[in-house]
Amino acid sequence: MSKQARGGRPLPACRAYDPDLWFPLGYSTAANQTQVMIAQSICAGCVYRIGCLEYALEHGEADGIWGGLTPEQRRGMSGVEGGKDELLAAMASA
Ligand code: SF4
Repeated sequence: MSKQARGGRPLPACRAYDPDLWFPLGYSTAANQTQVMIAQSICAGCVYRIGCLEYALEHGEADGIWGGLTPEQRRGMSGVEGGKDELLAAMASA
């Protein structure tokens, strides 16, 4: 059973971890990639994943992993027409 905040709302999956896990010092080394994979695996089980990603996209968050996506992955979404909407729809139906 997942932890829940007062009022019955589930807590973000990242709440139980050091926030620095979502902000690696880089994204290219093996150590960075391991850190990214761990954060992404935690995001994958988060009920707020879509909202988290939408927030990052709307606010132009340039760093960190939001909604399970790296900055490069988020930039890739904006470069493809309909990419953002398609991914969000796919995430919502998963
Ligand atoms: S999707 Fe967002 S709120 Fe959820 S665990 Fe990942 S960073 Fe935290």
